[in-house]
Amino acid sequence: LEYEGFTKEESAELRRAGVVIGPLEQIKGWARSNSLWPLTFGLACCAIEMMGAGASHYDLDRFGIIFRASPRQSDVMIVAGTVTKKMGPLLRRLYDQMPEPKWVVSMGSCATAGGPYVRSYSVVKGVDQIVPVDVYIPGCPPSPVALIYGLNKLQEKIRIEASGKKVSS
Ligand code: SF4
Repeated sequence: LEYEGFTKEESAELRRAGVVIGPLEQIKGWARSNSLWPLTFGLACCAIEMMGAGASHYDLDRFGIIFRASPRQSDVMIVAGTVTKKMGPLLRRLYDQMPEPKWVVSMGSCATAGGPYVRSYSVVKGVDQIVPVDVYIPGCPPSPVALIYGLNKLQEKIRIEASGKKVSS
């Protein structure tokens, strides 16, 4: 890594000192992607896998991903489970209470498209009808490893978008 406008020796000195130089937006994106705070929000069986991902064996904390119990302190909503039509407005209200910038992960086939309840009169056929989704994770249920992979993809997306490029869901 060479720092623009610095000699090789100066760059080496800056690296040793742990100095990071770059466009502010990219540094903000890098910082945000490494400190995601998901809202504790489980709707059905997928939530058990989400809890497993947060527990000591998979240890989501090591990625800077720490669950919060309030939408006011959260920047990621992991929709883990079946979204019923009754729950839809509440889900939207919680999303609206989260400060910007914020992201949504659809975890499992229920959240993404209704899953096994696709024929049910009471289930929303995709949470993207209620809130914008950034990452979809397939599975019924997705394993904690799949959730971690999806969250790593979200971190990647945040960093890429911070550099001014667009990424689709
Ligand atoms: Fe349960 Fe499967 Fe639906 Fe997840 S996708 S909430 S595991 S039925």
